[in-house]
Amino acid sequence: MVTLRSRREIDRMRGAGSIVVEALAEAARMLKPGVSTYEIDRTIEKAIEKRRGEPLFKGYRGFPAASCVSINEEVVHGIPRRDRRVAEGDLVSLDVGVRRRGYCGDAAVTFPVGAAAAGTRALCAACIEALDAAIANMWPGARLSEISAAVEGYARARGFSVVKRFVGHGIGTELHEAPHVPNYVDEEVLRNDLLLRPGMVLAVEPMLNEGAEEVVELGDRWTVVTADRKLSAHFEHTVAVGPDGPEILTPWHETIDTGLFSGKIGLFMNRGRLTSHAEGRADSS
Ligand code: MG
Repeated sequence: MVTLRSRREIDRMRGAGSIVVEALAEAARMLKPGVSTYEIDRTIEKAIEKRRGEPLFKGYRGFPAASCVSINEEVVHGIPRRDRRVAEGDLVSLDVGVRRRGYCGDAAVTFPVGAAAAGTRALCAACIEALDAAIANMWPGARLSEISAAVEGYARARGFSVVKRFVGHGIGTELHEAPHVPNYVDEEVLRNDLLLRPGMVLAVEPMLNEGAEEVVELGDRWTVVTADRKLSAHFEHTVAVGPDGPEILTPWHETIDTGLFSGKIGLFMNRGRLTSHAEGRADSS
């Protein structure tokens, strides 16, 4: 069962989301060669606590930090460490979750540090645009699988693969709620498909790989890396399905400059509902 959230609950999630954004923004400002991933995490945790939020990742199944910091071939769940320092040209993904007044927000941004190679920038840009394309589908009456298809289609068209082992998720009073939000479509995804309804809140999080989709977990039991050790990018927004379309509750794109895209996210959303969504709604009515 997918819980539908009231306007009041969604506003609370927006409050948690704003703390996520502020923590990401503070971390973004210190992302320079030489900084340790531990220092980044401390900044994030202090930013959350200063705003009376609860860092959701800390203690989650024993995770030791407030944020996941994943560099280069690390896909997600990188553990911040004192001896892991950011270097020029690294691709650093920061993932932060917060609960405030009982409700959660979750978002991730991937930053190139200093001068990034053209291929690195292309991977990140494709991941942001895949996220944007996915969010553009989040209208009442659209299918959940349209979100998945948008990410997969966009990634493939740009020559990248999508990670299947980890998926987006519903979010509300808990970090991970129903449903799963995969970044691909297969028979099982279609079997579990559902129609989006106002009040559904989803964490949409494409993970795109430069090489193959396969990932492996390192010996620390957390850090996930690409099996071929090629680069991976990860962007995430917490998004409510509103009566009049998607409402982004973690609007990091409004204040954080990743240096990756000239315009703001909303490439697709600014154009309104895509034709395929209208068709989707006609099918279901
Ligand atoms: Mg998430």
